[in-house]
Amino acid sequence: MPHVSFITLSGFRIHKPDLLELGLSLPGFQDRASALSQLPALGLITLAGMLPESWTSSYHSPVETQNGFVELVLRDQPDLVAISALTPSVTEAYTLSDSFRVQHVKTVIGGLHVSTCPDEASQHADAVVVGSGEPVWLELLADSERQNLKPRYIAGRNQRTAEWSMPRFDLLGNVQRYTLQTQRGCPLACDFCAASRLIEQFREKPAKNIRQELAAIKKLKKNALVELADDNTFAGERDVHEFFDILEEADIRWFTEADWRLGERPEILKRLAAAGCVQILTGIESLVFRYPGMAQKNVELNRMIDACHAIQEAGVCVNGCFILGAQGETEESIDRLTQFLLESTFAELQVTLQTPFPGTALYRRLQQSGRLLPERDWSFYTLFDVTYQPDLLSVEQLENGFQEMIQNVYGPSATLRRKKIRRDIWRGNSRLYPTSN
Ligand code: SF4
Repeated sequence: MPHVSFITLSGFRIHKPDLLELGLSLPGFQDRASALSQLPALGLITLAGMLPESWTSSYHSPVETQNGFVELVLRDQPDLVAISALTPSVTEAYTLSDSFRVQHVKTVIGGLHVSTCPDEASQHADAVVVGSGEPVWLELLADSERQNLKPRYIAGRNQRTAEWSMPRFDLLGNVQRYTLQTQRGCPLACDFCAASRLIEQFREKPAKNIRQELAAIKKLKKNALVELADDNTFAGERDVHEFFDILEEADIRWFTEADWRLGERPEILKRLAAAGCVQILTGIESLVFRYPGMAQKNVELNRMIDACHAIQEAGVCVNGCFILGAQGETEESIDRLTQFLLESTFAELQVTLQTPFPGTALYRRLQQSGRLLPERDWSFYTLFDVTYQPDLLSVEQLENGFQEMIQNVYGPSATLRRKKIRRDIWRGNSRLYPTSN
């Protein structure tokens, strides 16, 4: 029987040694950074769910990549190694793929990064999948069986499989947290965002598939915490009542990403907490620059903040996500943002550096104006390292400003303050504290 070994690379990465050291010492930072970089392995376990019966598979998690990882995978005697990585880990993925090829094992590589840089990836893998994996996966497996892999498999943005396949959640082993996708992409198009449209057009998963996937997760772990690995859960046109019925029935705790507008939708606020939602990550983005493509998301700050308050008043914490280093950032604006964050009532905060991921309009803009730092390769695209020349600051000034902000925003007193905010909000969450409502 042919065997495919799936490998996903993620994990927490920071290039700048002093920021890494500082981050590891701050109570609030490590959690945020590792949550950020914990890639849902959904792409690969979804492909695993599509395997014909004639194939066997194994799944390898990133922590195994440290010692003797290649030998460990080779024990599976794979006919094919399928690797998925994002930009900051893609160089490691290439090295890994090279190691398998030296051992005469064929490799295929896919994901957001290689979909935008397939020529680069082709130098390190026998086959590269451009776009979504599902439409081309069965063809690729058949070619692999015939020892006839093509160098490239291209799924167009409109190409999709008719059915959503059930991910093999069981391959993840004994985990506390599962990821489930209820949609692909996002109908908005913020120009820094790599997630919204690069792989395929926005579409929502039918209710019956969400129900089946939740049942599969619950079978593995009754009290699982589920991350909806969506880009913008409520931005589409789904029937929210049907959606909440399913989540309520599943009786799980979950969190997701969604833009602030859900805070202006009473039909969502009424049911969010009761359906098990504990946290919403929402992008407020930069306070000095409004990105092209933000569309309806782009309103004055007060309106966004009011919407976030409404979500928190409904018993659900908001993780406010902010970007530092956009056009117009200065030392003064960094100080202003720090002060704003220290006084804000967000239950959780995520501050990252503007990062021009390949394939985005932001990347093209900075590349065309010659502002990408050539000496900083993909491994610097961590969200915590500067990768371009800012317009009004030196690289060093932005690095220092970010470091200082991290120190303040994730320091012990600010972290403790947010912990208290979270506790108070969750007291109003009817699912977590049923008697208080
Ligand atoms: S709203 Fe969020 S997911 Fe959608 S394009 Fe903007 S940043 Fe990306």
